[in-house]
Amino acid sequence: GFRVLGLAFPSLEKALKHYFGYDQFRRQQRPIIEQVLKGRDVLVVMPTGGGKSLCYQLPALMKLGITVVVSPLIALMQDQVDSLQDNGIAATFLNSTQSWQQVRSQEAALLAGKIKLLYVAPERLVNPNFLQLLDRLSQTVGLATFAIDEAHCVSVWGHDFRPDYRQLSILRQHYPQVPILALTATATERVRQDIMAQLWLRDPGIYIASFNRPNLYYEVRPKPRDAYADLCQQLHQWSGAGIIYCLSRKRADELAARLRQDDIDALPYHAGLSDQVRREHQQRFIRDDVRVIVATIAFGMGINKPDVRFVIHYDIACTLEGYYQASGRAGRDGETAHCILYFSYADVATAEFLIGQKSDPQEQRLARQQLRQMIDYAESTVCRRTIQLGYFGEDYPGNCGHCDNCLHPPPLEDWTIEAQKFLSCVARCRERFGMGHIIDVLRGSRKQRIFDLGHDQLSTYGIGKDRSVDEWRLLGRSLLHQRLLSETTDGYPVLKLTGASWQILRQQASVQVAIPERLSQPRQIAEDN
Ligand code: ADP
Ligand code: ZN
Repeated sequence: GFRVLGLAFPSLEKALKHYFGYDQFRRQQRPIIEQVLKGRDVLVVMPTGGGKSLCYQLPALMKLGITVVVSPLIALMQDQVDSLQDNGIAATFLNSTQSWQQVRSQEAALLAGKIKLLYVAPERLVNPNFLQLLDRLSQTVGLATFAIDEAHCVSVWGHDFRPDYRQLSILRQHYPQVPILALTATATERVRQDIMAQLWLRDPGIYIASFNRPNLYYEVRPKPRDAYADLCQQLHQWSGAGIIYCLSRKRADELAARLRQDDIDALPYHAGLSDQVRREHQQRFIRDDVRVIVATIAFGMGINKPDVRFVIHYDIACTLEGYYQASGRAGRDGETAHCILYFSYADVATAEFLIGQKSDPQEQRLARQQLRQMIDYAESTVCRRTIQLGYFGEDYPGNCGHCDNCLHPPPLEDWTIEAQKFLSCVARCRERFGMGHIIDVLRGSRKQRIFDLGHDQLSTYGIGKDRSVDEWRLLGRSLLHQRLLSETTDGYPVLKLTGASWQILRQQASVQVAIPERLSQPRQIAEDN
């Protein structure tokens, strides 16, 4: 059994029930918690909504001393502490919004051993006064664990680098005996390695959960000219609360106002509103006092509302990871929820314009590449989960039965001959060019660059005139999705052959391509608002 603050529990499950009211652990929570209780460093990679907080909250209650939680967002901290206190758990936070008196009384409570969980912002942690407090705590009530939430913020390879996080290695330097638990929802290998190195983790237990969220239904809709009518109809059909994301503050304001006129209870949320208004809108949403939040990406990091029933991207998302994270705010309670992305080339143009305004060319290039992945996702005809999870390095077999492409599969056509032409053209160009150039060669383009390179002399020059650029692109992307072709991701994207490409070239396998409806119709370009 376990003893927790004077209470004896025959099992971890009983402690879970007692403090949080849950009957069982989610997959991996239990082994993680066991490791934390043993005092081992742990790295937890779990999707948003996976239940990371419990991995430090429950051990915090079961260990002697204080668990210090580093968390980047003050609003998020407040929510977590409020809901812990509602559950009768002794948690508090220290941040820059508090008065001197508040800070003093928190410190007294901490030193008196009345607090189990202390939330702090990273910039506070490196402040000398705070380090002094930590020293005193360490010598009196003791430090149980350092939990670093949103740990990807230490990495420039993540989507949310914060320089303050770089200082966090002082925790290990000052308190080498205190175990560190790092938590993140960013799954790429590079970020993972960076977290372990930057935080000086010592032989950590590593737990990587699947990023699949089986209860989310993914759908991409071509954005019609009157997308608003489509959206309204959808909102009238569904029940429950949800989030609608827009690309700009202006669009978010306008859409929220228009929805209100049409009797859909909606409020905006974006960085252009005052802290107070933002906070109020967020609170009202969490309390079910308003049904829909129309937001820019500023909204949502860590908002803890389990019953969000839909997340709609009314405009394109700029990165696939961002899309995954934002849509992942739906259905945290495990019940079915809808994630819809409206897609139009007009929005792609807007996104490209926004990218063009970034000052750093390196950043621009990365952002363009990420946008392209997003377009690929939107245009793809394969299982949406296969693409999303593939992005995180997870192999997913497809046929999820819970996305638009799986439920309404587009018709397949045999494009083996075209694929052979395409792949042999990649080979003839010595695997040194991107898709645009390959298609130019196939279609016998008369661009000067083709002649300069002598590519008009290749045997594949002009052998693909019978197909349009769009059709060749469709094939190229399909080959990529099917891993019959690969594309370098650092720097300028270059097409490369894979082992599987050679099977096609040797006529040992055929190629099926899913033909989207869109291709047979003239492109619909939406011009919203
Ligand atoms: P994350 O930090 O990984 O995004 P949270 O810790 O906020 O996720 O948890 C997401 C939701 O899941 C919360 O509403 C939380 O209360 C709930 N939850 C966590 N663990 C369990 C569990 N074992 N049983 C039921 N609900 C859980
Ligand atoms: Zn699917």
